[in-house]
Amino acid sequence: MTEDSNLTAKSLKEMSDKELIKRAKKISNRYCVGNGKDFKLKHFTTVPKKTFGPEDKPLFKEALEQGVDILTELQEVLYAQDRWSLLVIFQAMDAAGKDGAIKHVLSGINPQGCHVTPFKAPNSEELDHDFLWRCIKELPGRGKIGIFNRSYYEEVLVVRVHEAILQNQKLPEKLITKKIWDQRLEDIQNFERYLHRNGTKVIKIFLNVSKEEQKQRFLERINQQEKNWKFSSGDIKERGYWDQYMEAYEESIRKTSTKDSPWYVIPADNKPYARIAVASAIIHALDDMELSYPTLSEEEQSKLQEMKTALMEEKE
Ligand code: ATP
Ligand code: MG
Repeated sequence: MTEDSNLTAKSLKEMSDKELIKRAKKISNRYCVGNGKDFKLKHFTTVPKKTFGPEDKPLFKEALEQGVDILTELQEVLYAQDRWSLLVIFQAMDAAGKDGAIKHVLSGINPQGCHVTPFKAPNSEELDHDFLWRCIKELPGRGKIGIFNRSYYEEVLVVRVHEAILQNQKLPEKLITKKIWDQRLEDIQNFERYLHRNGTKVIKIFLNVSKEEQKQRFLERINQQEKNWKFSSGDIKERGYWDQYMEAYEESIRKTSTKDSPWYVIPADNKPYARIAVASAIIHALDDMELSYPTLSEEEQSKLQEMKTALMEEKE
């Protein structure tokens, strides 16, 4: 889509759904990690390859609208077919734009077919269970899209960066060893494979924002009164652990990105661009399911015709 030099909002408007889906797949492939064996964060940038200016605004607007329309159509078929489900996991540093991406990309979707769950620090009931417990309860049913705003990946990110959190998890002491992070990553990979084998496709999105851009967004939140509510002093504290977070992300992505349940490392310094890339990844996942509306058997169809005749012949 947007990185083609001669692409305009008008030419996008003229494209068929098939062409748009093809483009979405092309964009998402750029950021798809696939098998993570050799993954390195430094191979992925926080900005798109092309520099965009204010003149590109109409193009971004059109591209997002088109993406949302296609997503809406695909979601309707997913819902009608009622076999597959899609779980989209969002992970990122603070102010990377998770909330905005979720809001904009899913704006057209039938609320009955989609459920967003934010995961904060676990409460005491949640700490009383294994770490997947609270997430399993929120998994999407067949035909549905589930969005996790943060997820069980926090268990190998924030908990890894702050080992004091691990000490508070009420685990039997014997189980807290140096191997715990590898074990958790292995459990996550197995869990996602299990989900895939049961018809839930999982994709994981890392909104890759730079430390400098995060600083600018924090300053904006402090300087603009109507954005003050978005700012928390804890965010500055976590920023201090930037490098440790990046290491934890890199290892998590390397060990859990697979062909079936891939990570997408999306450049997030440019918000409109990031949203289009997110929409593209979701379109890609849904299109791969080769969805179709259920068809009726001959017998069911003839019953339908009988009912039609009965309705037409109804008096009053
Ligand atoms: P925003 O700040 O944009 O509103 P957010 O996702 O950062 O969104 P917050 O309420 O600020 O929401 O933060 C939630 C916090 O909960 C994060 O700092 C995250 O690391 C933390 N958290 C999530 N899961 C866990 C977990 N399993 N253990 C400990 N902390 C967790
Ligand atoms: Mg926060």
